Amino acid sequence: MSEGAAKKEEKPRKFQAIRGTRDLLPPETALWNRVEQTAHEVFATFGFGEIRLPIFEQTELFARSIGADTDVVSKEMYTFEDHDLHDLNLRRSRSITDIELFTEPTNVGIILPYAKHFLTEAKQELTAGKLPRTPSNEFLLARIESDLEYLATVTDATPRDAFRDRRSELRRNMQALELGPVISLRPEVTASVCRAYIEHNMHRRERPQKGRYRQFYQIDAEVLGGTDAPAIDAEVIEMVMTFFERLGLEGVQLHINSIGDKKCRPKYVELLRAELSKVKDRLGADSQRRIETNPLRVLDSKLESEQKLIERMPHIADHLCEECAENYRGVKKELELRGVKYRENWRLVRGLDYYMRTTFEITAKGLGSQNAVCGGGRYDGLVELLGGPPTKGIGFAIGEDRLILSLQESARAHPGDSGSPLATRHSPLLYIAWMGEKAYTTAIRAAKNLRNAGFRVELPPLEQKFGKALGQADKLGARFALILGDNEVTSGQWTLKTLADGKQEKLRESDLVEHLKKQL
Ligand code: ATP
Ligand code: MG
Repeated sequence: MSEGAAKKEEKPRKFQAIRGTRDLLPPETALWNRVEQTAHEVFATFGFGEIRLPIFEQTELFARSIGADTDVVSKEMYTFEDHDLHDLNLRRSRSITDIELFTEPTNVGIILPYAKHFLTEAKQELTAGKLPRTPSNEFLLARIESDLEYLATVTDATPRDAFRDRRSELRRNMQALELGPVISLRPEVTASVCRAYIEHNMHRRERPQKGRYRQFYQIDAEVLGGTDAPAIDAEVIEMVMTFFERLGLEGVQLHINSIGDKKCRPKYVELLRAELSKVKDRLGADSQRRIETNPLRVLDSKLESEQKLIERMPHIADHLCEECAENYRGVKKELELRGVKYRENWRLVRGLDYYMRTTFEITAKGLGSQNAVCGGGRYDGLVELLGGPPTKGIGFAIGEDRLILSLQESARAHPGDSGSPLATRHSPLLYIAWMGEKAYTTAIRAAKNLRNAGFRVELPPLEQKFGKALGQADKLGARFALILGDNEVTSGQWTLKTLADGKQEKLRESDLVEHLKKQL
């Protein structure tokens, strides 16, 4: 190898962000902070308190609460076996299933001893309590045992296909054995406590695009227990809308619907299924499948060619039982009482049985096709489904990334507008231009007092000529420069320069903070 080539190879590897993730950096993080701070403030006034949840939980919990055949559970979760190093043995013996031996040669004699060894080890670990004693593991061990018994009887006379099938089955069974509890990174929030909210990052293995990431942030809240009076639904919605209003989010549109309950929805679903079946041939493959599995989800379809057909489908509002209809009227009245504007959208649905009655979604400006910033609804059956007592529940999830995108979009559309979300993102910058050792001590004191008063201050760590310092202040977009040199320190008269117009004023130290506050 030539010297040049060797050098090239030494070049350190460049790391890139994992697909669908990104760093959030200043100044953007200031906006994130403001959004979260506003959520704390607004939600507190509605009697909500913050909760913090672990980032992973048992996969089964999410499978049940989100629904095993949703995209989130079937495709998008980051799931793994959670085991200790002591499971390495078993994992190592299982690695036999990774190699070609398992698929190619016809000679079963080579793999049998390995597979037998794996089985013995697995049984020992099961007894020792190291391998989880789940129904699935017990079933798999029994299958592996019987696969091995069969394979031990294979002779040259055994039909090739039968032998191959059984060998593939053995491989699948060995691979499916759960060496530790199966857990997933949280893709969404599940039932928690009463009147609580969280801010959290969620993980979903989706195709990344604008407003859709693999690690994203949600601000979620829910009310569990208590009454299901329409006023609760309306108040929860009012709370999100107040939050958005406080942030200055633009183009906010609230969509609501009622999806009935266990009594009336099944009848509507049957009717919908029957009507959809009549036009089945003209629907896409996904919708055709959903006619069987979950006709409500067809209403979600964004496929252009299906829109005309779907528009002609029966509306659930016309098929609610009297209690649900009454409840829906109540929610709308309560929203009106609170001055919350809504739009009814009969196609807004949820595909799972435990969802009922109120569903809502909020969209905002500047987000393209990913324009939902919040989704929510009532789910009285969820807690019971997870093994708890029957509990009323309503909640929502705000997509914080999209919320931020929309705020940034508005800020770009009208920069400098003091009502725009970014204008108050942080107070204007004050740059301290200092020269000389004495001035430095004064500068540190000034920075401390100004920061305590809430000003954003840039204090250069090294001495620079005033000209250069002011250039730097300009570059950073500072609104003011505080000039501190020997003269200022001796006379006690500090120089404050407004960078936009170059105006200079002399001020006493004790007057500075008040004077600046007046200019904001
Ligand atoms: P969508 O229809 O946009 O895929 P969803 O139905 O999967 O949304 P929910 O599970 O209801 O969304 O989550 C609530 C909110 O979280 C959404 O309204 C959206 O604002 C946000 N969200 C969902 N998935 C992502 C993602 N991958 N990246 C960023 N935000 C997301
Ligand atoms: Mg999604």
